[in-house]
Amino acid sequence: MTKYSIRYGASLRKRHSKVKSQKIALYKCEICGKVEVERVGTGIWKCRNCKNTFAGGAYALTTAQGEIAKRLIEDLGHSGA
Ligand SMILES: [Zn+2]
Repeated sequence: MTKYSIRYGASLRKRHSKVKSQKIALYKCEICGKVEVERVGTGIWKCRNCKNTFAGGAYALTTAQGEIAKRLIEDLGHSGA
């Protein structure tokens, strides 16, 4: 009985850590190029390296990459003029 419960607990812990690692998945930052972008809220992403904050998809940054590029081009245009 004791042996069985220990084995069950170990497998449960293993499953839990796998789910956790998927939640804190990091994405590549379009500003500094480092894979340091993490989700800080619904649709809000922050780069831990350059501290830039992005508005993106609720669960994945992928949908926001076009938006970021557009914003970057606009910013460059403003500072150049
Ligand atoms: Zn960055």
